[in-house]
Parts: sequence; C-alpha cells; structure tokens
Amino acid sequence: METVGTFFRKGLVAENTLFFQVVLPPDTGDRFEPGQYAHLEWASPDNPEEKGDGRDFSIASPPDEWPVLSFATRLTGSSFKKHLENAPDGTPLRVSGPYGEFTLPPGLETRKWNQPIVFIAGGIGITPFRSMLHHALGKFPSVPFFLFTTNRSVTSIPFLDELRGLARKHKNLFLDQIVSRTESPLPPDMESGILTPDRMFEAIGERARNGDYYIAGTPSLVSSFITALSGSHILPEKIHADPFFGYP
Ligand SMILES: Cc1cc2nc3c(=O)[nH]c(=O)nc-3n(C[C@H](O)[C@H](O)[C@H](O)COP(=O)(O)OP(=O)(O)OC[C@H]3O[C@@H](n4cnc5c(N)ncnc54)[C@H](O)[C@@H]3O)c2cc1C
Repeated sequence: METVGTFFRKGLVAENTLFFQVVLPPDTGDRFEPGQYAHLEWASPDNPEEKGDGRDFSIASPPDEWPVLSFATRLTGSSFKKHLENAPDGTPLRVSGPYGEFTLPPGLETRKWNQPIVFIAGGIGITPFRSMLHHALGKFPSVPFFLFTTNRSVTSIPFLDELRGLARKHKNLFLDQIVSRTESPLPPDMESGILTPDRMFEAIGERARNGDYYIAGTPSLVSSFITALSGSHILPEKIHADPFFGYP
C-alpha cells in the first residue's frame, strides 16, 4: 500500500506519549497483520529534514478498525514529532506498508494451553502488542498471553488503564508491569524492579519452555532480552524481535 491518509491527533496515553490516528481512503487494499508497521511521511513538511521526513511506526490498532490505523509515539522534540504535536487534524500524511514479520505465530486455533505467548514491551514497544492483544485475546480464549512491560515510572506506561482493563476482562491475559524507578504510591499489583527471565519464568511456570517470546522496544533493550532468553535455553526460533531503530 502507498497512499495518502488523514492525520488526527487523539491525545496523550502516558507522559510525553502521543496517540494519533491516520484514516486511509476507504478503497485502500493491503490489510495488515497485527504486529506489522507502516512508514509515515508528512506530505508537505514545514522544514524538510536531512534524516528524511518519514518514520516507521508499529500499527497499534487491530485490523478490524481498518481503514483507521492508530499509532503511539514518545515525543522527542524532533522535527517529525513537532509536526505530530502541532499539525491540524486533517493534515495529509503519506502511508506505506504494511511491513515486517513480527506477527503472531500460525495455528492459534489449535494452540494448546501449555504453549504461552509472551510479550515483552520496553516502553513504547507496547504498540505492536496492543494490536495483537485487541485482535487475539477474545478470538483465542484458550491461548495464554503474558504481557510484561518495563517503564521508568508509572506515568510513563503507555495505555496503563487500558491494559489493566484488558487483563480484567480476559482471563487469558496475565499482565505484569514493572517500573524501574521507585515511586510512591505504586498502583496495586505493581512492583518496582528489573524484569529478568527468572521473574518471567516464575509467572509463566512449567510451560515457559513451550512459549513463543516477542520483544519490542529500543534496540538495546531488545538485544539484552534476546541474550538473556537465549542464555535461559529458549530456542532461537521461539524468540521474535522488533527493535525500534531510531531510538538509542
Ligand atoms: C519496525 C519499527 C517500528 C517502530 N515503531 C515505533 C512506534 O510504534 N512508536 C515509536 O515511537 N517509534 C517507533 N519506531 C521508531 C521510530 O521509527 C523513530 O525512529 C523513533 O520514534 C525516533 O524518532 P524521532 O523523530 O523522535 O528521532 P530522530 O532522532 O529525529 O529520528 C530518528 C530517525 O533517524 C534515523 N535513525 C537514527 N538512528 C538510526 C539507527 N540506529 N538505525 C536506523 N535509523 C536511524 C531514522 O530515519 C529514524 O527514523 C519504530 C521503528 C522501527 C524500525
């Protein structure tokens, strides 16, 4: 797909974290799979950038919201992001994609209770998982999903209330949200600390070895979890990575 959509700013979903949507023309083909990303580019930027006027963003909404695509991003003050903060609703935005193979494993219909799907979201790395969870939780109630999020602070957790609501509604979602900075008071069921494979395996139990592990976030976070999971004898074909290049 290569098309021009219409931009709508929807508001903040965490400190400094903007949620926005792009509405595609209704005749746009090429639907996407949850977990894939799109390349967004301002059709007429105020100050064209050397880095290019486009960025890759994971699609944060499920396919059944088509032709609306949702995205979330940390506001960094870059010229692209300033435009996201200031452009009026209705501004045209070029959209290409969908791209990427960071998608749910095949055969969810017949997947067993002892074959968990484990998501590890570093900060804004929650975006592809939001799409996957909205798509799959209700459709595949016998597949266990584990979502571990790591963020600096409670206020920086994107979609905090929404994720907690999903975990209340769907018994097949286990949610563990970890913050690295100690704050008081933390919401109930939330701890400060560091996410390690041991902590995940304790939550997942015996079935941990049968799981598929999906990691999204900054390249450094993704590579550190790949190393940690490989060191814990998770097979390479069970580890799926989505490094958000462009973040340090
Ligand atoms: C598959 C994928 C999915 C992503 N999904 C999201 C998402 O859902 N939300 C989100 O906020 N961000 C996402 N990103 C990162 C996003 O594309 C931007 O890079 C990031 O938001 C920083 O942009 P910026 O304008 O704030 O920073 P800037 O530093 O102004 O720009 C970053 C841009 O510089 C270039 N760049 C700089 N360093 C590198 C590098 N090491 N490797 C490659 N290119 C580099 C790229 O063009 C990049 O887009 C994703 C990236 C990828 C690859």
